[in-house]
Amino acid sequence: MQMKKTASRKTIPIRSLPFLLGLALAVPSARAVDRDFTACLDRLRLQAVQRGISKATFDTYAARIEPDLSVLESLDTQPEFKTPIWDYLAGLVDEERVQDGRAMLEQWRDVLQRVEERFGVDPATVVAVWGVESNFGRSLGQRPLLVSLGTLSCMGRRQDYFRGEFLATLKIIDEGHIAPERLNGSWAGAFGQTQFMPSTFLRLAVDFDGDGRRDLVDSVPDSLASTANFLRSGGWRSGEGWGFEVKLPPGFDISVAGRRNKHSMSMWIEHGVKRANGEPLPPDGPDRALLLPAGEKGPAFLVGKNFDVIYGYNAAESYALAIAHLSDRLRGGEGFRTPWPTNDPGISRVERRELQRLLIERGHDIGAADGMIGTKTRQAIAKEQQALGYEPNGRAGQRILEALRSMAKN
Ligand code: CA
Repeated sequence: MQMKKTASRKTIPIRSLPFLLGLALAVPSARAVDRDFTACLDRLRLQAVQRGISKATFDTYAARIEPDLSVLESLDTQPEFKTPIWDYLAGLVDEERVQDGRAMLEQWRDVLQRVEERFGVDPATVVAVWGVESNFGRSLGQRPLLVSLGTLSCMGRRQDYFRGEFLATLKIIDEGHIAPERLNGSWAGAFGQTQFMPSTFLRLAVDFDGDGRRDLVDSVPDSLASTANFLRSGGWRSGEGWGFEVKLPPGFDISVAGRRNKHSMSMWIEHGVKRANGEPLPPDGPDRALLLPAGEKGPAFLVGKNFDVIYGYNAAESYALAIAHLSDRLRGGEGFRTPWPTNDPGISRVERRELQRLLIERGHDIGAADGMIGTKTRQAIAKEQQALGYEPNGRAGQRILEALRSMAKN
């Protein structure tokens, strides 16, 4: 869902320190902050009641929340490290997630079949979204939703937007769908196995296990059906794939690329575009756009309407490509034919944990080897890169992993 992909929230990125220092100088006293926050909560209580939320719900779960200032920092912090698409995909679509996803397809086969019958979205696509959004329900986010959204409703940018999400959260509690203590999520309020925002929940969540509650935290059937309902409402076309990898002829004019520039298949055929394996394109079929996520030297894709629908889940082409590719892998498909234009490919989560263990063995204090590449891991990598005479960019890639492996052997 929107607004949740940012740098690790566990540590304070170096870049935000000047921001925090500025905050400390400019901000009024803690007592004034408390007073303003309490006044803001009083106004929210009024709005909640106007929306038909019971006073008891507000008074029990929202009236006494304390602001969490760290969410404001997440709101204003740009990720300090821009992830290359090959790193992004190497972590999201690795062998581990493909195996887990295939096991989930098997385990939830009957539910997924009924989901497809009702919503028209195929099992592999639904499971791919599930795997990327919450690692199949294993990573739901830890922050109490009412605290994060209450804070963002009263402080910082976009208070109007977050107020709507805060009130939607109360509505979810009021209607009895999910217990308040289970409503934890990202700093911006995306929660549950589908990582829906609360307002998205109210619009599109589905009770599919028939217990009368729409539960995207503890019910897998509700979560799978809600994902499919989201995609269907975005205009999903049943039986039409997202697209496929292609090969461009030498000298191809890439100015026609771009997700919004859809053209007929005959136009692409005329310009010499082929399937990635060299076979001709299917002459029929819907209009498609040319996607070049890493420019003309990287893999190329023709994508259609369903790619846009996936994009609607979290507006980033890299995200949509991760879901699309994972769905192909879950159906038994291979990796991309054309390699990414880098001599230092990305690494899987298993390799990230290995890299972190090697850094720990070499005395770097980076916390646990959890596969999450945060600021501390990047700083440790940069030190090792410097010592090796590499560019010290802090990137977790194949080259530094191999260098540390061979040093560990010697
Ligand atoms: Ca249910």
